[in-house]
Amino acid sequence: MSLGNGRHYLAIPGPSVIPDRVLAAMHRPAPNIYHGELTEMVPGIVTDLKAVARTKHHAAIYIANGHGVWEAAITNVFSRGDKVLVPSTGTFSEGWAGMARALGVDAEVMDFGKRSAIDLARLAERLAADIGHEIKAVMTVQVDTSTSVRNDVAALRRVLDEVGHPALLMIDCIACLGCDDFQMDAWGVDVMVTGCQKGLMTPPGMAFVFFNDKADRAREAANCVTPYWDWRPRVDPELFYLYFCGTAPTHHLYGLRAALDMIAEEGLDNVLRRHAVLARSVWAAFERWGDVGPLELNVQDPGARSHAVTSVRVGSEKSTALREWVEERAGLTLGIGLGMAPAGTPEWHRFFRVGHMGHVNAHMVLGALATIEAGLTAVGIEHASGGVDAAASIVAREA
Ligand SMILES: *Cc1c(COP(=O)(O)O)cnc(C)c1O
Repeated sequence: MSLGNGRHYLAIPGPSVIPDRVLAAMHRPAPNIYHGELTEMVPGIVTDLKAVARTKHHAAIYIANGHGVWEAAITNVFSRGDKVLVPSTGTFSEGWAGMARALGVDAEVMDFGKRSAIDLARLAERLAADIGHEIKAVMTVQVDTSTSVRNDVAALRRVLDEVGHPALLMIDCIACLGCDDFQMDAWGVDVMVTGCQKGLMTPPGMAFVFFNDKADRAREAANCVTPYWDWRPRVDPELFYLYFCGTAPTHHLYGLRAALDMIAEEGLDNVLRRHAVLARSVWAAFERWGDVGPLELNVQDPGARSHAVTSVRVGSEKSTALREWVEERAGLTLGIGLGMAPAGTPEWHRFFRVGHMGHVNAHMVLGALATIEAGLTAVGIEHASGGVDAAASIVAREA
């Protein structure tokens, strides 16, 4: 039989759970796109997006997903033949590098594996060796959603400064803005990209590029700029129509407005604390289960783990069976083990991910963990008992 009927829980690392308030805000007739409520609403959305990114600089809105703003960021700062250094901790930094290459940019990937953060000493060595300052930018992710590794972005800036390297610092926060702490200006980030469908709790379809004046000066010289991705007309435009290089994403804007209101009402610091505690409860469950048998968190160092997503190594080829069981029998969808092994190989069935980003609370996370515990038993993945207890104790102590 199935116990999966009832409200479904999508616990994948994006898109995330959409709040009813966001859905309700989108449920309306088409608005006038030339003047009135919609046009008056957008400047406030830009201000509030900057508050979440903790920046006073510029924000451009695109009708796109995360891959769209990858391309936007690349085309606005580079010329064909420019060199960019991409420290990699998983699939997503490699994907961004691949897109740069396809656009004619010389992307050098430094591989730091899939289980730990960027090694700052090795990065410093590589930058110090670049005496002629050929490297135009260091481009990487804050959180790699495939491995759930979180990089220390403030430390990347310190490395650049200590070496005295003028490269731009470009960060992908698509997985984790509004979940893991990020401070664009305080940490000296020049370009940041994110999407609306993860920590910002809005259906996929809008994405954002934040950039400072140093990055905008790079835009001056860049020859990869194209009319649609150009960030200039989208920032402080003369005509509302130019914010979006065409028709506004009307309903997404109403949804995002509601999501930003929810973040402001809870307070960004409280939102981040909620994610931190819920992430620790997820880790505690997996650590306890892993006391017996092969189950283990992908990232050993808690300081290098994201608060938005957790990648798990099952240690046997039963992750697909587990994901299917919890989905069909209990109404919980877990994330696939993206980028850890080639799809279709037996290895592929050794990994899965739990998304705990955005509109999630303690009962959802504890419910998901209890469901996973049932699934582990049902499909025969060896584990110690007490994972849910371990998670509940953290919630009991911190809430
Ligand atoms: C989700 C994600 C992307 C890709 O976003 P899409 O909207 O699927 O194009 C890129 N980078 C990171 C870190 C992500 O989490």
